Amino acid sequence: MTERTTFFDTPLSQLKGLGPQRTELLNQELNLFTYGDLIQYYPFRYDDRTRYYTISELMDSMPSAQVRGRLRDWCMEGEGPKKRLVAQFTDGTGSMSLVWFQGVSYIEKILRREGEYIAYGKPQSFNGQFSIIHPELENTATASDSELGFFPVYNLTDKLRRRHLDSKAIGKAMRILLEQSWPHIHETLPDSLVQQYRLVGKREAMWNIHLPQNQGWLKQAVRRLKFEELFYNQLRLIKNKLIQKEEFPGQVFRDTSLVKHFYSDCLPFELTGAQQKVLKEIYQDFLTGKQMNRLLQGDVGSGKTIVAFIACLMAIGNGAQACLMAPTEILADQHYNGLKPFADALGLTIGILTGSTRTKARRALHESLQLGTMHILVGTHALLEDVVQYKNLGLCIIDEQHRFGVAQRAKLWRKNEVVPPHILVMTATPIPRTLAMTLYGNLDVSVIDELPKGRKPIKTVHKYDKHRSEVFGFMRQQIELGRQVYVVYPLIEESEKLDYKDLMDGYEGMQRAFPRPKYEIGILHGKMLPYEKDDEMKRFLKNETQILVATTVIEVGVNVPNASVMVIESAERFGLSQLHQLRGRVGRGADQSYCVMMTGYKLSSDTRTRLETMVRTNNGFEIADVDLQLRGPGDLTGTQQSGVMDLMIADLAKDGAILAAARESAQAILMEDPELVMPQHAPIRNHVDSLRQTENNWGRIS
Ligand code: ADP
Ligand code: MG
Repeated sequence: MTERTTFFDTPLSQLKGLGPQRTELLNQELNLFTYGDLIQYYPFRYDDRTRYYTISELMDSMPSAQVRGRLRDWCMEGEGPKKRLVAQFTDGTGSMSLVWFQGVSYIEKILRREGEYIAYGKPQSFNGQFSIIHPELENTATASDSELGFFPVYNLTDKLRRRHLDSKAIGKAMRILLEQSWPHIHETLPDSLVQQYRLVGKREAMWNIHLPQNQGWLKQAVRRLKFEELFYNQLRLIKNKLIQKEEFPGQVFRDTSLVKHFYSDCLPFELTGAQQKVLKEIYQDFLTGKQMNRLLQGDVGSGKTIVAFIACLMAIGNGAQACLMAPTEILADQHYNGLKPFADALGLTIGILTGSTRTKARRALHESLQLGTMHILVGTHALLEDVVQYKNLGLCIIDEQHRFGVAQRAKLWRKNEVVPPHILVMTATPIPRTLAMTLYGNLDVSVIDELPKGRKPIKTVHKYDKHRSEVFGFMRQQIELGRQVYVVYPLIEESEKLDYKDLMDGYEGMQRAFPRPKYEIGILHGKMLPYEKDDEMKRFLKNETQILVATTVIEVGVNVPNASVMVIESAERFGLSQLHQLRGRVGRGADQSYCVMMTGYKLSSDTRTRLETMVRTNNGFEIADVDLQLRGPGDLTGTQQSGVMDLMIADLAKDGAILAAARESAQAILMEDPELVMPQHAPIRNHVDSLRQTENNWGRIS
């Protein structure tokens, strides 16, 4: 164990001035046990009290300001919950008001007329007059200039504050800890990186993240620590990827004659440049003799299915089998029905296995898979069952990755005992680059960033509920032209009953506005049985229904080229990526398509941003970036995936540039020195060791 590890493992009770009671509070409330825990508990913001502002200098944009002035007079204003104490405060350059809603009687008692005070808080203007609500107020007689400075504010609980462990107290403890730690803090980045990116040293960074001397130092400290965090995050992912590549062999698929045959005799269109590029990347993987683990990202409608099929042909043309797993039966069916004609034309056998496959068909399937006469198997989770065994599974394709977990992917690996199958994961929810790097840093990523030629961009509009008759008129017009319409209602589990009622009310309203026999309306929701859903979907596909009223069960993947209008009800209740997915259900044929988002009048500013983004762009990657800004990485992935949630200081929504630099550096270093044995990389090796050490400790605690 290195000296560094022992020092930062010291229990907090040893810290001078903290005492056993406060130590226990920190244990319980914040999960801080050791010196290392505390020193890495970074402030979440800072109070800039480095200077005084004059009242004439105040601006609404200031997060906070400190003003020195004289208290003129005060009085009570307003009634009921708006009742408040308002004091006039002047400094010779102007006047402002200080406002209290709570604790009024106490405040009144301590205020001194004509007394000189320092007021601190967030300035807000109203009718040209600035005010601070619930300011921090100090009498200048008791405050001293030595307290001017830049103060850290820590995320604390009420209980801690009640026991006087406020930001000031933590700051004090931190100062003692930083002083003691000084000789034990070692540089964790090699000289070359520190030089290249002009980073401040680790010690300076640790000091200034807690007790910054000024704004400039703080910025430097933050940048340095973000870089370090992202560098080690990437180093670990890339290292894991290298190990994976070392350890797991993969079948070589060199022969391309089947693919060539398909190109010349069956392919009904030309592949886009992006599709070709991605297929080349996949083929390169198949030549290496190592297992492929690749993520294929492509916007809705970019043509991932055909890429998947051609990858299957590469495997089959070399004597292996392939499987394609989809998250729902509808999707699995659709893949199967779409690919069957191609397979038939090539003389290949394709099968489908879902929850509703009958036992007899199932048995026949299992047999042909083991014999190797079944070339491609399409299906749902049912593919994961242990009884599903292949003669030689060479490639697994997983569509819509976000619905499958890592454990399930691992299950697929074991479907070939000799050599694990290659894995291709396809996702239609574009993930921002920064997120992809951290979530899937151990996968290789291919991107289809081009739509097939001749697609008309979908026209998207936002309409308020009161324009419903106009929207209905538009739907009639489109149906007149032979098109079909989706109408989607939100169905979110927590309020399922209510949502269900919305859906049924909407369905009935729709039946009144679009009466039989002129119009046929279908309905599709999650409570229907699989075969019922299937029947509805088929009726819509055959244009027996012109309108399909549905919940988000149609969100993923479904393809009805003749549907050209997507109406989204209560659009404010959908997330951005969901709206984009829904819109992706239209625009699949040659006709101009439309997306209409309906909402009420009351919208939050985030909702407005979402709707405006949808109207502005059809680009899934751009939309994913906005989504990341709005929701943050945790929400976006819906999971506590390590790699994203472990980040303490870096913010994937904002730190894309630092992440890219950190990744590039990590890659270059591992390329040159995979085992990190070169002397110049000693700081990295030491830090990796100590990180591992802390993780082991954590493992023991939790
Ligand atoms: P997604 O990427 O959303 O899964 P699909 O694979 O379902 O998209 O493809 C959408 C539609 O585009 C399908 O009807 C498919 O046949 C068609 N398509 C795919 N590639 C091309 C291409 N290169 N040229 C023309 N049409 C294409
Ligand atoms: Mg698809």
